[in-house]
Amino acid sequence: MKTEGLVKKNILVIPGDGIGPEVTAWGQAALEKIAEAYQHEFHFSSGSMGHVAIEAMGNPLPDETLEMARKSDAILFGAIGHIKYDLDPSLKIRPEQGLLKIRKELGLYANIRPIKLFDELLEASPLKPEILRGADILFFRELTGDVYFGKKERSADGNTASDLMVYSRYEVERIAHKAYQAASTRRKKLCSVDKANVLESSRLWRETVQDISIQYPEVETEHLFVDNAAMQLIHSPRRFDVILTGNLFGDILTDEASQIAGSMGMLASASLGDTIGFYEPIHGSAHDIAGKKMANPIASILSAALMLDLSFSLKKESNSIIQAVSRVLKEGFRTNDIANSETPSHNILRTDEIGAKIVEQI
Ligand code: NAD
Repeated sequence: MKTEGLVKKNILVIPGDGIGPEVTAWGQAALEKIAEAYQHEFHFSSGSMGHVAIEAMGNPLPDETLEMARKSDAILFGAIGHIKYDLDPSLKIRPEQGLLKIRKELGLYANIRPIKLFDELLEASPLKPEILRGADILFFRELTGDVYFGKKERSADGNTASDLMVYSRYEVERIAHKAYQAASTRRKKLCSVDKANVLESSRLWRETVQDISIQYPEVETEHLFVDNAAMQLIHSPRRFDVILTGNLFGDILTDEASQIAGSMGMLASASLGDTIGFYEPIHGSAHDIAGKKMANPIASILSAALMLDLSFSLKKESNSIIQAVSRVLKEGFRTNDIANSETPSHNILRTDEIGAKIVEQI
């Protein structure tokens, strides 16, 4: 199988912590298989970030990793995090600082999360199949603003704290354009989620989206408050096409929406700016299952597929990964997180077993 021409790319792999390395190995293996099958040249290098980088170098994002990231064409990332920081929020040097810094440094302001259920997994979701069937949502979560980056303060006596929720018009405009462009190529519906009845930053968000919407008359725009959106997502997920929202609301709503796709282990994401793309599963380092070979590698494998599509415009190659995942699920193979009481135990596979089956199918 050959496409129109050889594509040469440099890909930086940052496995990170916990299940990060376990799943990223399979995202990379899928890319290697694509390179072989379609005769592209992908050069891989490896970078350190998160707890592992703090342990080795005292820095959650070593300069060397950032330098390698800037020189790469795309990045495949796993996850960061370690139980020790979750148990002690007062620790000053933390894994998530590395992730926030790389997003900011590379200008990765648009986080794109496709939420689509493989038909084979209709029974894996806690939601009823008749509610889920056909659900296909594309989230655009703003990634470099909001309370995550606003001023953080603690009073001298330590008893009062605040995080500033701040957005500027240009930050809303640039992600709104990306979301509208995507909606124009899909079902032409965009739902902007905010809390404009209470928050000033949300009022600016809503005003800005209303202004931008005029430039996309073919797209039907709807505005929902985040509490209502959270309810509607579970009640009638099929009503949504593109959802555009801020950093905090997007963080929460996309974890909720992961249940539409059956598990956190099924969902990929792309973080884009104007240059390099950063691809990662939506899940974290999952300490509870790290090292047990139970992690579902599909989110990482689908992140590799997103990279091929969005960063390298290799749509056919991207689809061959998605079809390989679909075939393995159709054959009845599952990881623990997407199995149910009817899955025969011999079909419940470990990370490496299901990863190898998918790569074989590409
Ligand atoms: P998590 O996403 O790591 O895990 C939530 C639950 O989902 C766990 O029960 C876990 O076992 C399960 N799960 C997650 N991914 C899975 C997979 N691939 N296969 C099977 N099951 C999977 O979230 P958490 O428990 O809130 O956080 C754990 C750590 O990860 C924390 O230190 C947190 O700070 C960090 N975190 C990192 C990122 C990131 O790197 N982007 C995102 C979220 C959380």
